[in-house]
Amino acid sequence: MTALPATEPVRTTCPYCGTGCGVLGGPSPATKGDSAHPTNFGRVCAKGSALGETLGLENRLLHPIVNGERASMSDALDLVARRFYETIETHGPDSVAFYVSGQLLTEDYYVANKLMKGFIGSGNIDTNSRLCMASSVAGHKRAFGEDVVPCCYEDLDEADLVVLTGSNAAWCHPILFRRITDARQSRGTKIVTIDPRRTATAADADLFLPVNPGTDVLLFNGLFSYLARTGAVDLDYIGRSTSGFAQALERAGLDAPDIDAVAEICGVPRDDIEAFYTLFAKTQRVVTVYSQGVNQSSRGTDKVNAIINCHLATGRIGRPGMGPFSFTGQPNAMGGREVGGLANQLAAHMNFEEADLDRVRRFWNAPRLAAKAGLKAVDMFDALLEGRIKAMWVMGTNPAASLPDGNRVREALKKCEFLVVSDCVADTDTAKHADVLLPAAGWGEKDGTVTNSERRISRQRAFMPLPGETLPDWKFVAEIAQRMGFADAFDYRRPADIFREHAALSGFENRGARVFDISGLAEISDAEFESLHPVQWPVTGERRHGKQRLFGDGKYPAPDGRACFIAVAHHGPVNAADPDFPLVLNTGRLRDQWHTMTRTGEVAKLMMQAPEPVLEISAADAAAFAIADAGLAEVTSSWGRAIARVRISSAQRPGQIFLPMHWTDAMSAFGSPGRAVNPACDAVSGQPELKHTPARVRPFAVR
Ligand code: SF4
Repeated sequence: MTALPATEPVRTTCPYCGTGCGVLGGPSPATKGDSAHPTNFGRVCAKGSALGETLGLENRLLHPIVNGERASMSDALDLVARRFYETIETHGPDSVAFYVSGQLLTEDYYVANKLMKGFIGSGNIDTNSRLCMASSVAGHKRAFGEDVVPCCYEDLDEADLVVLTGSNAAWCHPILFRRITDARQSRGTKIVTIDPRRTATAADADLFLPVNPGTDVLLFNGLFSYLARTGAVDLDYIGRSTSGFAQALERAGLDAPDIDAVAEICGVPRDDIEAFYTLFAKTQRVVTVYSQGVNQSSRGTDKVNAIINCHLATGRIGRPGMGPFSFTGQPNAMGGREVGGLANQLAAHMNFEEADLDRVRRFWNAPRLAAKAGLKAVDMFDALLEGRIKAMWVMGTNPAASLPDGNRVREALKKCEFLVVSDCVADTDTAKHADVLLPAAGWGEKDGTVTNSERRISRQRAFMPLPGETLPDWKFVAEIAQRMGFADAFDYRRPADIFREHAALSGFENRGARVFDISGLAEISDAEFESLHPVQWPVTGERRHGKQRLFGDGKYPAPDGRACFIAVAHHGPVNAADPDFPLVLNTGRLRDQWHTMTRTGEVAKLMMQAPEPVLEISAADAAAFAIADAGLAEVTSSWGRAIARVRISSAQRPGQIFLPMHWTDAMSAFGSPGRAVNPACDAVSGQPELKHTPARVRPFAVR
């Protein structure tokens, strides 16, 4: 398990975004792209190239800490096991929870899910991936019958039109955006960007639609209606492979009877809407990319389905250069979905349904298997605040800074009777509330697999020894599970043991038409695991090399074998701007930072690009609220406030302001922007509306 320091570069995977670039990890500070990896062919972005500079131990948590004091590992693990055991005995299994992370490797995720759902007997394991792609998961399940991404990255190379909606791919998935702009060079691919902000992606588009926030369903319902009106739908495909077309079309028509109605509500010139619709209608090879701007919404699932409806209507799915394509935010958001890291899923894409419960119960030999879904992220922290959850384990994430309504989350963490945090660092806004801190192994030290946005499973390999007393997260979970009395079920020696079990479960007995199946990897040897090449699931005995695209045959994993059109209606965000809070606060990523900056914040050349949080505001709003460029401003909402340096920007439309998500209390004297963000969630997916909080601004003076 413990790697020796590598003297040669080791093939591994970048731990930042869901693109999942292959990199050559090793002792050199500059990380190189892996030219053999089919995602990036040797390219890396600024964050990826600086990975080598994040490997120092200066700020690392290297030993267990209990109640603020260094403790022995055995004492810390005994305490965690005893407190969780006692809490469950006294208050029942739903009194405990795990809040985990898309930073975890699939093997970590699998074991944590198995302990909580299988052996503790509660569904209370959820993940910070709830914040990045839960609406896509829900939209896929409604449309396809299963959470499946049909596309592959080659579709970006082969499309004639790429529509990016709610995706600043130029900053957030830079290597994929390069593939799109390369396609423009080589084949003349047109790029349409749909976003309330003029992002770097919008600036590079052939057509930019600066829609009003929250109008995506209307825009795509309008497109759906237009396609039907102009005869651009594929009636043969619709009849053969789908259901629900007529109802969905009728509903779309109520919202968007014509282009004028769409233009008025979306706030975009009619000619630009028509240009987009015409381009979509006449171009066969269309990929629609969507990301957090779609997902992080109180209507996120409906937005996803409005997009998918347009691809189903034209039969443009599962064939080269076409399909709806959700870009995942985190490096292993997809892996977490595979193993059931979301509170409302079982493992291996199974659901809380009797046949699936029975199958998983028998496979794990877990008679206490949770019978119902657990609490989703925002609800989980509400339950913590209300005392319904009494013990929580946070793995590799910083909910105090990243969840909405950060003040309430901090209150909940303070109130938690027993809080465990396993992380690489001890100074996060969450870790400071912990009763027990467990020192987790980081990138370059741990070993396992991750899955990227195109379903490609890649290896993360260790190239450095474990420093101090650090351990990989799966090992902590297994140690705790064994101390809680579940020794046999958690007797793993190495990540390959866990991976084989995960793969075997995916093919266990007849799971109907489900697509997720990696049973072809269930018997790989340790040596084969070590040398595993990146491969796209499904991987079965017959299909050892995986599958690029799915649904090209028009067959879907729904009970009737058909994809389902979903009738979706336009509704505004849950919390609308009003006279007290007249602006809409949008939050998002910067090009050179990752999440709460525990790694990228260590790299001087990345920090130099944006050394402090900056509020972007239009010139009109700056004038209206007496905000000076380069001065400080206070952003206040009904939930909290944030302070930031001001940049008057033509990227912002009047009425909208933008704050980067990355800064935390630990990183900035100004505090975390998350304190101001509203906690409204999508009713279907539970994903928070991180991109739409009513707010006001005023100048701020440091006293
Ligand atoms: Fe890493 Fe994403 Fe950059 Fe690739 S695009 S190098 S995965 S941060």
